[in-house]
Amino acid sequence: MRKQTGKTEMIKLSSVTLCALLTLGATAAVARDCGPDALGVSRTIAIGPKGTAVGLQSYPRTLDLQDHEVVLTFDDGPAEPTARVLDALAKECALATFFVIGRNAEETPALVRREAAEGHSIGYHSYSHPANTLRLMYDDAAKADIEKGVAAVEKASGGKSAPFFRFPGFADTPELVSYLEGKGFTIFGSDLWASDWSPMAPKAELDLVMSRLEKAGKGIVLFHDSKAQTAAMLPDFLTALKSRGYKLVHIVPGAGETPVVDAGPDWTSTTEPIIAKTLAGKVKGAAAGDGHGHSHGDQ
Ligand SMILES: [Zn+2]
Repeated sequence: MRKQTGKTEMIKLSSVTLCALLTLGATAAVARDCGPDALGVSRTIAIGPKGTAVGLQSYPRTLDLQDHEVVLTFDDGPAEPTARVLDALAKECALATFFVIGRNAEETPALVRREAAEGHSIGYHSYSHPANTLRLMYDDAAKADIEKGVAAVEKASGGKSAPFFRFPGFADTPELVSYLEGKGFTIFGSDLWASDWSPMAPKAELDLVMSRLEKAGKGIVLFHDSKAQTAAMLPDFLTALKSRGYKLVHIVPGAGETPVVDAGPDWTSTTEPIIAKTLAGKVKGAAAGDGHGHSHGDQ
């Protein structure tokens, strides 16, 4: 009998340990104390190793999300508002994906490490975020910028980054898309955005992005953690998601096939007319400029 009891206790202990480990795995070893009312993450989607391109604003397919499911993405960090963005997410046990600029990662690696430690996914967004976009750089220069960005973010994150890429300003080229897909990267456009490159009050940004989300019903949402107005509105945005019944989906690198759904025959690109306007009159060149200031209304 005593033996039996001992065995049972051992099994119980093992269960507790296993549970703790699973919890640690799910939250990347961060102690979280959000309470039962936190938004949290409802499910995780594994992004497979076969490269693809998703996000209806740029591509005729997107992740296969259910109604009221949302994927949060943040571009252009780490920057000054990034810590506040991370604080807001942590408070709700919410997980997002950060598309990090290589040069910024070199400047503030501690914030990239914090993103990784808190369980967020970390993707790439070029090294220099060139003002004329990667599209107007010669292929060799564009690929060099992409690779330098990957190396910088890998180093800053301690090898925790994922093969996720978002083109600065969504300005891809067929050559660069196939180059990245061939290396197993999934390219992320977005399904909707907050237009947070335009200066506006946090409340105005909140109303705008929620109205777009209500219209779309679900999707990959693009924000910029480089924008103070976004950091300021984020707590209210997460509260609004909760109160309106939205659920967060976290994307992570994994095995298998990425679950995607094709757009209908009426699909058109939202981003191409914007890119055409931004790049009008500019000429393809070796050195396409420096976009660190993001003065061109960066996406
Ligand atoms: Zn950007």
